[in-house]
Amino acid sequence: MAVDAEPSGRWTDPPVRYPDPAVRVLDPRFARYRIVSAAVERLATGFRWVEGPVWFGDQRTLVWSDVPGNTMWRWDEISGAVSTFRSPSNFSNGNTRDHQGRLLTCEHLGRRVTRTEYDGSVSVVVDSFEGRRLNSPNDLVTASDGAIWFSDPTYGIVYDYEGDRADPELPTAVYRVAPDSGAVTAVVTGLVQPNGLCFSPDERLLYVVDSGTSPGSIHVFDVEGATVGNGRVFADMSPGSSDGIRCDTDGNLWASAAGGGDGYDGVHVFDPDGTLIGQILLPEQCANLTFGGRKRNRLFMAASQSIYSLYVDASGCV
Ligand code: MG
Repeated sequence: MAVDAEPSGRWTDPPVRYPDPAVRVLDPRFARYRIVSAAVERLATGFRWVEGPVWFGDQRTLVWSDVPGNTMWRWDEISGAVSTFRSPSNFSNGNTRDHQGRLLTCEHLGRRVTRTEYDGSVSVVVDSFEGRRLNSPNDLVTASDGAIWFSDPTYGIVYDYEGDRADPELPTAVYRVAPDSGAVTAVVTGLVQPNGLCFSPDERLLYVVDSGTSPGSIHVFDVEGATVGNGRVFADMSPGSSDGIRCDTDGNLWASAAGGGDGYDGVHVFDPDGTLIGQILLPEQCANLTFGGRKRNRLFMAASQSIYSLYVDASGCV
C-alpha cells in the first residue's frame, strides 16, 4: 500500500540506519554516551543564523534566537510546533535562565543583557562598563551564587546584518555581574573574540571560546571566587572554530563546531583532559547547543538555518 508523502516531507527522506553514522566515537571513552538507536533529528529549518538555545522544562519548550532574523523562536516538545517567541528581538543572541527560572538574553541591538520577568516585562541587567557601552553581548551563563558571566565580543557591531554597525567603546572581555550589588567586573581580557562560555560541573573551571583567532580555540581558566586565574588553551579547534559550549555532569565539554566543512561541522566532545573523544556531524555549521528534556539528556543544536536534536546517554549541567 502506498503511503502518501506528508507535507513535512517526513516520508520523502530515507531513514537513517542505526547506529547513526553522524555520531562518531573517536575514543572509547565516548562510546558510553552514544545511544545506538538514536539519530540526529532536524526539528526546524528555514532560519538565517540560529543561536542561543535554552530549555524550559516547565513548558517543555526550546527557545532560541535567529540573530539576523531578529526573532526568537520556540519549539514545543509535545506538538512539535514552531512559533514566534519574540519579534523583533533586538537581534538577540545567547540565552540562558537564572536560578529563579527567568530568561536571560544577550541583545546585539541594545548592546545589553536583559532579564525577562515573570510578568513579561524586560529589565536591563547590564549595558555598560565603566561608563562605556558594551560591544554586543554574545553568550552567558549563571553561576550557582547567582552571578551572571557573559562574553562581549564585537560581532553585533561590525556590520548591520546582526545589529547596528558601530565603533567599539570597550575592548572585548568576559564580564561578571555580581548577584546582589549588580557590580560588573571584567574577568577575562586578552582574548580576541570571547564567545561561548560555561563552567565545569564543580564550577572550579571556566571554559571560554575564542572565535576570533584562526583557527579558533577553547581556553580554560581556574575560577578564583569572583574572578579567574591565568588561562590556558584547552582545545585547538583547527581547522574551524567553536562558538557555544556546554559541560555534561561528567565534566566532558560539548563544543559547537563550525567552519571546518563536511566531516567537521557539528559538535565536538572533549574529555576533561582535552582529548577529542566524539563528534556529532551536521550538514550545517553549528553555533550553539544546550541539553534539554526531562533528564537533560537530549542535546539541542542550533546550526545555521536549522535546529537539530539527539538523545545521548549524558546529562547536561544546568
Ligand atoms: Mg556565540
